[in-house]
Amino acid sequence: MRIEQDIKLDFKDVLIRPKRSTLVSRSGVDISRDFVFPHSSRKYHGIPIIASNMDTVGTFEMADALARESLSCALHKHYGDDALLSFFAERPELPPVFYSMGITPPDYDKFVRIMEKANGSINYVCVDVANGYTRAFIRFIHKLRSAFPEITLMAGNVVTGEMTEELILDGVDIVKVGIGPGSVCTTRKVAGVGYPQLSAIIECADAAHGLRGLICADGGCTCPGDLAKAFGAGADFVMLGGMFAGHNECASEIVEIGGVRKMRFYGMSSREAMARYAGGVADYRAAEGKEVLLDYRGAVIDTVREILGGVRSACTYVGALRLKELSKRTTFVRVSQQTNDIFGTRGN
Ligand code: 5GP
Repeated sequence: MRIEQDIKLDFKDVLIRPKRSTLVSRSGVDISRDFVFPHSSRKYHGIPIIASNMDTVGTFEMADALARESLSCALHKHYGDDALLSFFAERPELPPVFYSMGITPPDYDKFVRIMEKANGSINYVCVDVANGYTRAFIRFIHKLRSAFPEITLMAGNVVTGEMTEELILDGVDIVKVGIGPGSVCTTRKVAGVGYPQLSAIIECADAAHGLRGLICADGGCTCPGDLAKAFGAGADFVMLGGMFAGHNECASEIVEIGGVRKMRFYGMSSREAMARYAGGVADYRAAEGKEVLLDYRGAVIDTVREILGGVRSACTYVGALRLKELSKRTTFVRVSQQTNDIFGTRGN
C-alpha cells in the first residue's frame, strides 16, 4: 500500500483569479475552437461542448438542437442500425456527432455492419468504458484504429497522464477523462475509486498536449463556472450529462410530483439502466449509478445560452479574447473548505 500525499483538486476547491484585461464586452469573446485531430487529420471547428452518450441525454433530438448552436453530441449506443444510418445520412460533418459504442464483440460487429452502409457519413466515434485501464480496452482500440484509420476517435475513461499518453500513442484523438465525478455516478461510494476531476484534467491535458492529442473532460460539471474551470485547466472538450438532462430533447417522460414537473435521469450503470438494457444487475456486480428526479427545464437552448454566457464571462474576467487563450490566462486560487461551505464555489 502507498499513499500519494500531494493534494488533488475538484472544481469546488478552486476559483479563477480575475486578471487585468483590455476586453470591453463579453460579446467580443470567441468561444469556438479549431483543432486538427492527430490521427484522423480531420479539421474541427465548433463550440467544444458535447452532450454525454447517456440514453436520456445523447438523443437525436439533442444532437439536432445542439448542432444549431455549434455544439456536439455523443449519441447513446442503444439506437438501432436503421435509425442511426438515416440520422447520419442527413447530417453535415460539423459540428461532430459521435457514434458511441462499448468494447464487446456485438458492439464491434454492429459498428462494422453500420460502417459498411454509412457511405462515409460516420466520422466521429466515441468508445466508452467505465474503466479505461484494462488490456481488453487497449486491444479494442488497436483493433478499431487499424480497421478504421480515417475516423476521429474519442475514447476513455481514464484520469492519469501515463494512460492518456498510452491511448494517444495507440490511436486515440481525444482522450475522455473522468472516473467518479458524474452527477449520477456512485463509483466513488461503491468502489472507493476515483480521482478529483480538476486535477485529472490538468494532468491529462498536459500529457495529451505534449503528443498533440486532445482531451474531453467528462463528468462533474454542475454549473457554467465548472465548465470555465475545466477549460481553464486545459480541457479541449467538455462533456455534460446532468446539465443537459431534464430538457425537452431528452428521452425521458415528464412526471408531476407535488405540482412540480420533473424528469428522470439515471446513470448508465444504475440499477434502472441495467434493468432496461441488461435484464438487471448481474449477481457478481453492484450498480455504480443512481437515478434522480430533476426539475423539468424546457428547451435545452436556454441552458446552452446560460452555459455559453458563463464561459464568455470567465474569458472576460481573465482577458481571454478567445476560448483558446483561457487556460493560458487561468490562475486558480484554492478556496478553503470553510469558504466553500459558507459561500459555495458551485452555482454562486
Ligand atoms: P455529469 O455531467 O452528469 O456530471 O456526468 C456525466 C458522465 O457521468 C457521463 O458522461 C459518464 O462518463 C458518467 N456516467 C454516466 N452514468 C454513469 C454511471 O452509472 N456510473 C458511473 N460511474 N459514471 C456514469
